[in-house]
Order: sequence, then C-alpha cells, then structure tokens
Amino acid sequence: MSKVLIIGAGGVGGVVTHKCAQVPEVFSEIVLASRTLEKCEKIKSQISRPIETAQVDADNTAELVQLIRKVAPDLIINVALPYQDLSIMDACLETGVDYMDTANYEPRDEAKFCYKWQWDYHDRFKEKGLMALLGCGFDPGVTNIFCAHALKNHFDEIHTVDIMDCNAGEHGHPFATNFNPEINIREVSARGKYYENGRWIETDPLSIHRTFDFPEIGPREMYLMYHEEMESLVKNIPGIKRMRFWMTFSQEYLTHLRVLENVGMTRIDPVQFQGCEIVPLQFLKALLPEPSSLAQNYKGKTNIGCMIEGLKNGKPRKYYIYNVCDHAECYREIQAQAISYTTGVPAMIGAMMMLTHTWRGKGVFNVEEFDPTPFMEKLGQYGLPWTEKFLD
Ligand code: NDP
Repeated sequence: MSKVLIIGAGGVGGVVTHKCAQVPEVFSEIVLASRTLEKCEKIKSQISRPIETAQVDADNTAELVQLIRKVAPDLIINVALPYQDLSIMDACLETGVDYMDTANYEPRDEAKFCYKWQWDYHDRFKEKGLMALLGCGFDPGVTNIFCAHALKNHFDEIHTVDIMDCNAGEHGHPFATNFNPEINIREVSARGKYYENGRWIETDPLSIHRTFDFPEIGPREMYLMYHEEMESLVKNIPGIKRMRFWMTFSQEYLTHLRVLENVGMTRIDPVQFQGCEIVPLQFLKALLPEPSSLAQNYKGKTNIGCMIEGLKNGKPRKYYIYNVCDHAECYREIQAQAISYTTGVPAMIGAMMMLTHTWRGKGVFNVEEFDPTPFMEKLGQYGLPWTEKFLD
C-alpha cells in the first residue's frame, strides 16, 4: 500500500498512470502532476479509479518541494522531460522521498546524453538513506534488464551487445516523433558513438547502417547511434568488448530530418526572431504532433531487443531476446501508442520493485544493478511479453 506521485502528463505519463491504476494493491493512491493541469485531467477522465491531479512546474525545486510536502508520496516517478531530472532529484533530497525516471538528465543548451550529473547524486542519496533508480523505461530500462538476465542465466562472459530498436508503425503523419520531439531530434541528430575494446568510437550521425530481419516485422534498415544505456552497461557488464545501439528509420523520416537540419530548424541555441529570442528546435516542437496524439490511428508493431554474444561453459554462444508490441493493441487497452506503452509499463514495474522493496539500495542506481528475475516475471504479466532465442 503506497502513494505515488507521477510527474509529467505526456504520452509516457498517461501509460504510467493507467498501469499504476491497474495495480491498486501496490499503488493504493496516485497523484498525477504536470505543467498543464488539463492534460492531467484528461488522463484522469480515462481511468475508472479515483486519482488526484496537480499543477507543477518541475523546473522549480521550491514549487516541487511544496507539492511533495502536501502530497507526501512514497515515491516520485519522473516522466516529464530529462531537463527536470535534477530539480526533481533535489526536491526528493529535500523532502526525503525516493526517485525514479526513464531518461538521463540533459542540460537545455547541450545534447550530451550522459549519466554523470545524476551519478554525482549517489552520495547525497546514500547519506539520506534514499534510493534513486535511473532509466527504467524500455531503452534505457528493459534493454539493460535483458542484459542482466542474459548474464545471470545464459552466459559466463558477455563479449558483445547490439541493442536493436525497430518501430515499424504507421501513424499517418509525414513527419512526427514517437516521444518528445525535442529529445528525440536531439538524440537522432547527435554524432553516433559505440564502445569497442575499452574506448568510445565516434561516427558521423546515422552514417553506419545495416539491414536486420526483425521477427514479426521483416527486414528493416537500422542505423548506429549513441544511446544512453550503453554508458551504464559498459560499466556494469564485466569484460564487455563491444556495445552498439541501432534504431530503424524510414527514408521519409530521414529526408524530413535532413531538410530540417539543413535549414537550421534542429538548432538548440537561441536565435533572434522579430525582437524575441527563440530556440528553433523548441519552435519546431510546438508545430509537430504531440506523441500521445499519434496513438489513435497508429498501426503496426515495434520490436526492441538485444543480440548478445559471449561464452557459456567455455563455448561461444549467440543469444537474442526481444519484445514485440502492437500499436493498435496498446490503443485498445489504454489509448496509448507502443513507444509510450513500452516506456510506461517498465516504469510502473520499476516503481513496483522499489515500493515492494524487491529492489532496494541507498544511493543512485541503474536497473541492471538489481536482480532481473522479478522484473522479467512482471513484464509479460503487464503487457510486454519477451522471447529469447539461442542462435548458435
Ligand atoms: P511528452 O512530451 O509527451 O510529455 C512530457 C510531459 O512532461 C508533458 O506533459 C509536459 O507538459 C511535461 N513537462 C515538461 N516540462 C515540464 C515542467 N517543467 N514541469 C512539469 N511538467 C513538465 O513526452 P513523452 O511522454 O514521450 O516522454 C516523457 C519522458 O520519457 C521523456 O523524458 C523521454 O525522454 C522519456 N522516454 C524514455 C524512453 C525509454 O525507453 N527509456 C522512451 C520514450 C520516452 P506540457 O504538456 O505542459 O508540455
């Protein structure tokens, strides 16, 4: 029996709220807070259980502290934007509440995608006896837990990991992003990076690509890019030799992105426009469809998983583990699209692991540092079944 405060009423926030509401034995009280109260109210109206809502600017730690003191939650699930991670962690420290999120902190003026800022909070959380769990969505999140599961059950040594993220859905828009447009475009337009033999190797954005035949989808072109879970996995998988992340994009998406980049619309530095300062990417976000609004007409599937190679009992082993999620089924269940769904379900399960003390620690942690088994058991039960295959 516990009270949870969810911050962020976007695509992912909607799924987390729906999913927590399905488990009243753990989440006995739910409060959903966000910058725009109407968005909280809209989600509330879709849920048959009573939940509370609140308006908060999560960039403002003092405002957060006031809300947290009023609500008195056992845990805060941060599914607002990566910009708010540190202000929410500060408020957790001040009020003595545990913290969880799905994306690492980003400063507004730099696209960095690194855990340093949040890992630096470890001692402060530890001293207060609090726990912060970072990156508990799908990728980061389930992909990290897939690696921990493989290491626990199927490998003595893991040598290579390829994380492969495919969205073969059709939403009917010529160009839209499946999660927050600002964060998505910052991620995709950044230089690529992968880990090999003890060092990080940089590549031009989306310059390396391969075709992969995704189960239940078929062959798709996937592009090498940097993704934040690699930073913690390289640290937490002993002896890892190579780690790469791949994501599929349609030619139409890439053409739009190239044009937007070429005309300066993806810039994150402020420019002067008619006497005002605007950030082109923030302006572009205002024009693009909201991720949650894509759900209604989204068709097709996602497939996200890990291809892992290494040794078991002295013999080479190749192993593939993945989840397939259907956009239309997510909509039928909770009016969401699959990208929000595959992020929100693991966030709910991570919160459940923390609130039931199945996963416990003092300090700041990534998900692969805990026992993957109880989490993996819940994935199928709450809508994200997984398949594993031995390919050798
Ligand atoms: P959305 O843009 O749909 O939602 C973000 C929400 O946060 C909006 O409701 C927004 O409010 C709210 N918000 C933004 N700024 C503030 C603020 N200062 N104070 C309070 N609320 C604020 O994004 P998504 O739901 O798609 O993504 C949510 C998070 O999930 C992001 O951090 C994203 O990176 C992460 N994510 C993680 C994935 C994973 O697998 N690990 C995959 C996909 C997403 P408003 O409506 O007023 O703008």
